[in-house]
This record gives sequence, C-alpha cells and structure tokens, in this order.
Amino acid sequence: MKKKKAAVALLASVLLLLAMVLVNLIATATPHNKTVWATNLTKSPYENIDVKTREAKEKRYHLAFQYPVFKNDALNKKFEYYVKKKETDFLKEIEKIDEKKLKKQPASLALTFELIPADGGVYSVLFNEKTYLAPEKNVSAAAIFIVDPDEGAAAKPDDLFISPEKAALALHTPVDIKKSSLYLQGNKIVFLNDQEDEAGSLAFHKAAPFLKKEWRDRLAIGPAKTNVAAGKNVKRIALTFDDGPNPKSTEAILATLKKHNVKATFFMLGGRVERYPKLVEKIVQDGHEAGNHSWSHRDFTKLQPNEVKDEIDRTAAAVEAAAGVSPLAVRPPYGAMNDKINEVIGTKPVLWTIDTMDWKSHNPKAICAVVKKEAKDGSIVLMHDIHQTTAEALDELVSSLQRDGYEFVTVSDI
Ligand code: ZN
Repeated sequence: MKKKKAAVALLASVLLLLAMVLVNLIATATPHNKTVWATNLTKSPYENIDVKTREAKEKRYHLAFQYPVFKNDALNKKFEYYVKKKETDFLKEIEKIDEKKLKKQPASLALTFELIPADGGVYSVLFNEKTYLAPEKNVSAAAIFIVDPDEGAAAKPDDLFISPEKAALALHTPVDIKKSSLYLQGNKIVFLNDQEDEAGSLAFHKAAPFLKKEWRDRLAIGPAKTNVAAGKNVKRIALTFDDGPNPKSTEAILATLKKHNVKATFFMLGGRVERYPKLVEKIVQDGHEAGNHSWSHRDFTKLQPNEVKDEIDRTAAAVEAAAGVSPLAVRPPYGAMNDKINEVIGTKPVLWTIDTMDWKSHNPKAICAVVKKEAKDGSIVLMHDIHQTTAEALDELVSSLQRDGYEFVTVSDI
C-alpha cells in the first residue's frame, strides 16, 4: 500500500512539473508580455522639457520610441497614449507576418521627434515614424502636434484654425491647410508641402483673425508690423465701410476695390451677416478685413453691459460661421462709447478721422471732395456700403488718392 501511495505522489508531482513547464512555455510564446524595455530620460535643449527614450530589442521586432516629457501631466498622458497606440498597432501588424521571416529580419518601429519653439511658450512637436515590416512594407510617416505646455493643450495643426479651408483661400497659403502640415516657428507659421519641404510662411498677425481664440491668446500675437519700407515716404490710408453687407452696393464696391487692387475694412452688422453669409465670405476671400459693428446698430451707451456683450458676441459668431474669420476690430454704432463699454468689448474701438457724410449727401462728388481735402497719412475714412452713391464715388476716390501717393491698408495695418 505504501508503494502505491508513493507512486501516486510521484505521478502527481510529475504532472505538476509538466503543468508548470507548459504554463511557462505558453508565457514565453506570448510576445506581448515579454517585451523588455530599456528606458532613459535626458534633458532637451529647452527648459522644462525632457526627452524620454524607450527601446526594446526582441527576436522578432525592435522598438525605439523617443518623445517629449513636459512639466504637465495632462500633456504627458496625451503623448504616452499616442506612443502606446503606435506600439499596439505595430504589434498587431506583426502577428500577420510569418515567424520565419521575422526571425530572419526582425520588424522595427522607430519614432523620433523634433521640437520647434514659437512665441507664447508654444512648441511644435514634429514626429517622424519609420516602420519596417517587410521589404515591401517599409514606410515613413510624419505627424505634427502644436502644444502649450503651460495649459497642457495639444492640437493638430489644422485644428488651430476656425476654418482651415477658408483661411487657406483668403490667406493664399501655398498649401491646403487641411490636407497638408504646418508648424509654428518664432512668430510665423511655416507650411510644408507633400514632400515635407518648406513651401512658405505667414506672420502670426496676418493669420490671427483666422485662428481660434484660445490659440490666438496662447500665441501672444503682437500688433501688425508696419509695411512701410524704411526711408520711403509712403502715406497710408484705411477705407472703412459700415452697416453692410448689402447685395447690390457691397458687390459694386468689392468690384471697384478689386479693379484697383485695394484692401479695405468692412464693419458689418450681425443681422446682415446672417442674411448674406456668402457676401461676407467674398469680402474676406478678397483679402479685406472683417470688422464688428454690432448685431442691430443700437447705441451701446443706452444698453446694459450684457446686452453690449451679446451684440458683439453674436455678430462675431455669425462672421466666423460665414467666413471662418473673427472680426477683431470693433466699431460701436454711431461711435458711441465709454470706458465701461470698452471694458465689455475687451478691445479699443476703431473710430474714424474722416467722416464723408455719405449717408447724408448721397453725392459722389461731395464724398470725393471731403476725402481729398482731409486725407493725410494714417487717415481712417468712414463710408457706408449700403448706399449706391457711395459705390459710385469709389472709383474716382481711389484713383485720386492713388495719384496723391496713398497706399491702402486695413484698419489693423494702419
Ligand atoms: Zn453704423
């Protein structure tokens, strides 16, 4: 009986040993669990940004990841997630490849990046990805993120714009913003073509109205730089048109401005913007500045602060929806303003220095005469694009100012 017991015990322990060996075999045959990482953290050339390197060399594949580590956990989580997703997708692909092939030539994934600083403490992170799965599956890919380490914000480049498509058309960018890539460097946007070569650049202040407010704020966009060539005595003047748009007279004004290759500013009413969105889009696509003239042309000094805010915000939203641009310049109806209103608006209102009285005279000759008499460098001319007589005055008005050596700019450039 004793012998039998001993035999059973022996059998049990052999079985146990077999089971342990089997478990071990299964474990080693599951590649996902056995990736051994070598991790390293080094300093980047930029303050408060480190570089994390993670490498793994397995028989069937090699992984090498390099990505930035900021002093912001929310931001770091986004990049950890991005890298993890790359790893998971890669390992899934490997499962489809023949074992023998992998042992001969391991698959590999290498992710590197470059950091480019821009104004406002914002960085562009340019990832470069090289994947080798087989001789015929050998690909490079790039991805760009724009990050604000202070706020933990990260965005795809085209997500900085209210409407990437409309911005690309109005700003004449060398590439389609939506399809192509761009990064930020210093105080400009650099555009890349399909071959990842630099295709052109654009100063922040030019692009500002087309950017979402949160990114406008993050990029600490400074005032427009004067475009007057040093040493040259160029006189500048800004034509402004209020109370529109109007299908007939605004169209006529746009045609005359185009004929003379002149840029102007349109202070529009939200109610009319909502009614004629295509016309607003045309104004912006033609390169003119869109301004905010309130929703319903009420005297701001007779309104409550929340009513003023509503007049401005609703109009801004309507212009953004129509043309993909924020009307950053604000002109209160009748020029009626005070400190309290300025505070609500959050920007210094744009008034005028020459009142053509076009709404009163309805006389093209009289309109031209006022401007010719009062024009000087830095003048802002008040007109209304809802009157046909103003449209009729414009051709001669622009011609005579051009003869006098004036350069036409928008109110944000004056
Ligand atoms: Zn007005």
